[in-house]
Amino acid sequence: MIRRSRRVKIIATLGPASADRDMVANLFKAGADVFRINMSHASHEAMRERVAMIRSLEEEFDRPIGILVDLQGPKLRVGEFEAGAVQLRKGDVFTLDANAKLGDSTRVYLPHPEILGSVEPGHRVLIDDGKVLLRVTAVAPGSAETIVEVAGRVSNKKGVSLPDTTIPTSAMTEKDRADLAAALEEGIDWIALSFVQRPEDVIEVKAIAGDRALVMAKIEKPQAIQRLDDILAVSDAVMVARGDLGVEMPLEQVPGLQKTITRRARRLGKPVVIATQMLESMITTPVPTRAEVSDVATAVFEGADAVMLSAESASGQYPIEAVSTMDRVATTVESEGIYPAIITAQRPTHDRSGGDAIAEATRDVAEALQSKVICAWTASGTTGLRIARERPFSAIIALTPVVAIARRLALAWGVHAVVTEDARDERDMADRACRHAYIDGFVGVGERVIVVCGVPFGNSGATNNLRITSVGPDGGAV
Ligand code: PGA
Ligand code: MN
Repeated sequence: MIRRSRRVKIIATLGPASADRDMVANLFKAGADVFRINMSHASHEAMRERVAMIRSLEEEFDRPIGILVDLQGPKLRVGEFEAGAVQLRKGDVFTLDANAKLGDSTRVYLPHPEILGSVEPGHRVLIDDGKVLLRVTAVAPGSAETIVEVAGRVSNKKGVSLPDTTIPTSAMTEKDRADLAAALEEGIDWIALSFVQRPEDVIEVKAIAGDRALVMAKIEKPQAIQRLDDILAVSDAVMVARGDLGVEMPLEQVPGLQKTITRRARRLGKPVVIATQMLESMITTPVPTRAEVSDVATAVFEGADAVMLSAESASGQYPIEAVSTMDRVATTVESEGIYPAIITAQRPTHDRSGGDAIAEATRDVAEALQSKVICAWTASGTTGLRIARERPFSAIIALTPVVAIARRLALAWGVHAVVTEDARDERDMADRACRHAYIDGFVGVGERVIVVCGVPFGNSGATNNLRITSVGPDGGAV
């Protein structure tokens, strides 16, 4: 039985360095709770193979595993050059246009007509993760003239970021739509949407996903920061996507934004993921830097739901070491004497729905009685997330009859999800909660178990019932 000894979850991105089954099994054993498939790099065929592999590992380990499929979104790129690349010098005039012919040192094709229609003089155009900076000086139909402010080399199909421009198209491209349909067909658990700018972007994906998958908004554009609350309101989770966020916004603002986004998501009880460059140096070395360890620790102290590995596990030389380092750092941070005080200080105050009040009471009761575990019966996942939002000191077991819900909850802070048939009545509910807590090693005979649920069962959303019980001699409720 694999049982994690930490509350924060680990997401590991799969890629060429983690393609075979043994490697993915070892990543799971080392601590990965959710696997991310990045559609910027994976074909539909590769995605399907990975999903099948993860589902078979899930069976082998008898633990629910989450699958997050990340849609590329409108990643903008320049066209190609006659010479493959050009060297732009400070002060040069350089034009982006709608002409598909090969570029030179004066112009290049920008294969995104909608952008040429929305940039305005004064807007910044960043190329290749911000290495080159152009400033728009004039616009005409089908072209934008710029001046080079930060010089550098631009080669074929380099990425373009437009931090000042709101792009008037949906966050989903044709490719994203096809990827989304393929992923939903495979029954994946979470969809991540890149370059979200407005709540409508998320709403559009949610409408397609329906109840088949939950949707995570990647916060990586200033437009998303401006509308953070509106986006959070319609998303099921958020990712602090620090890679692109650090290109589109001043890098020194990213730590503050990370804290703001984390706290707002926690207040709403929606999972928040901290992503990108967490253990970047481990792509090529087996040990992290002090700064990286500190960065992971910061996310854990903030009470983030999950920390994520990208290239470290997808294409690096030390994928297992990266996961086990993250696991070790998180476990150690959570066992520090100062950790409970920090987590408690950041507990969100409540907007007093009945369910939230029960969740808060559950945490208080568990604390007063020093109960090692809270068992949450959850048909939709809502009760599980409500308890996780409280960041209680007790372990959280989410009991659900729905395997898809258990997989989704793999992402949520502190939740150990168990798939079990629905409780018949309240006696059965207490009894089976105790049995699972006992079998999975959370409590011993005679120890207290707090059980929370919505009655009647299967009625999603309601959290209205709190019960104190303890484990009897046979492992069931006394
Ligand atoms: P990406 O998203 O890896 O898909 O770019 C994460 C980020 O931008 O940080
Ligand atoms: Mn990104």
